[in-house]
Amino acid sequence: MSRTAENANFNWNEPAESVYLVHLILSTPFSTLGPKNMKSAFEAAEQYFEEAASVLDLSSSMRTLLMTPEREIKVQVPIKRDNGEIATFVGYRMQHNSARGPMKGGLRYHHEVNADEVLALASLMTWKTAVVDIPYGGAKGGISVNIKEMSIDELERLTRRFVDELHDLFGPDKDIPAPDMGTNAQTMAWIMNQYEKFHGFSPACVTGKPVELYGAEGREEATGRGVGTLTLATLRKTKRSIESASIAIQGFGNVGTYTAAYLEKAGGKVVAISDVSGGLLNRDGLNISAAIDWVKDKGSLAEFPGGERISNEELLVLDVDVLIPAALGGVLTEDNAKEVRAKMIIEAANGPTTPEADAIFRKREILVLPDILANAGGVTVSYFEWVQNQQYFRWDLGRVREELEKTLTRGFDRVWATAEEKKVPLRTAAYLLAIGRVGRAEILGGI
Ligand code: GLU
Repeated sequence: MSRTAENANFNWNEPAESVYLVHLILSTPFSTLGPKNMKSAFEAAEQYFEEAASVLDLSSSMRTLLMTPEREIKVQVPIKRDNGEIATFVGYRMQHNSARGPMKGGLRYHHEVNADEVLALASLMTWKTAVVDIPYGGAKGGISVNIKEMSIDELERLTRRFVDELHDLFGPDKDIPAPDMGTNAQTMAWIMNQYEKFHGFSPACVTGKPVELYGAEGREEATGRGVGTLTLATLRKTKRSIESASIAIQGFGNVGTYTAAYLEKAGGKVVAISDVSGGLLNRDGLNISAAIDWVKDKGSLAEFPGGERISNEELLVLDVDVLIPAALGGVLTEDNAKEVRAKMIIEAANGPTTPEADAIFRKREILVLPDILANAGGVTVSYFEWVQNQQYFRWDLGRVREELEKTLTRGFDRVWATAEEKKVPLRTAAYLLAIGRVGRAEILGGI
């Protein structure tokens, strides 16, 4: 039996590593992009930036400086397939801004990865690190590859070859990759190992590594835990209780599973979940730990009992208190925004809402907690991992969780206060804070 990413969890007898292989499957997205006729991902990111830039009355030269990426890298990544044939892939690393520190952001393996999308995601990282005030800039990378068609050995060769092409352009004080869709702790371990062949011991060159290899306790759960923490904060601010909240989560990968588990434990009722195989609805609340075990065992939610089958589209328009898109970009569009019945949307995915849908939600007074804050837990614990690596010191899980909550709550409170003070939506408020911080760093540092 060959070791493909899909069957790895059925045929693997080294428990520690199998955890990472399973999660490679768990974090496999179905599609990173929404409908084909919508704005490009970068145009959408630009539109959100421009709205806040207008509130700030930012000069056009400053707008150009802040939106122009510092460096765009596109490389050929050829590998030998297991059958001896040569396969050539295209890889990207977009380094958007470094005014506030080394650039930071994930590395995505998905067949729809393209330059525009990676650039948009890189700019989101600049604003995300600024909103929660961690000392980084923003970057993002990706390889256009369908990981389901790759064996584990091929993925390893692909990752190492990508590092061969890029190792001079990233590193602990330049640009630090991390997991994103289709990549996981195992991928990060390969990156570190390959980078060190050129530069010597440098665990801080990448984050999201296995805990056994300089990774931080709590990094894997961090994005979902952060989404859960901020969902509770939003419910509190809007005077709703978690016990009476019904929650629908689209996406049951790394972010969706940890978010669901966190909110269920906090007393919430997760009534709907979904993955590539479709969704499930149970008005009495789904059994999340059973669903997670099912996916670990079978690879997807297909045939999971305990709920009525629904489609991913139906999940988005369910009558629930909280809707959490946790998988795709561009799923909430002009076409379905009018049908959405949730009272609040917590953007666990990057870029799930198009600007057109966002405008409809504003009119309909549906509260949207924006991605650059809602899913910042991942990069925040990446920062803690990098700090520990630089200091050769280890924090325990309790400290990681405590510091994560502190950082996210501080960011949330600032964004909320700014939204109230300026009478703007939370997204604009988050961008106002972020752009202000990056802009000041640009000016203080000088050109
Ligand atoms: N890929 C994650 C994100 O979009 C994490 C990035 C990181 O940890 O650097 O925020």
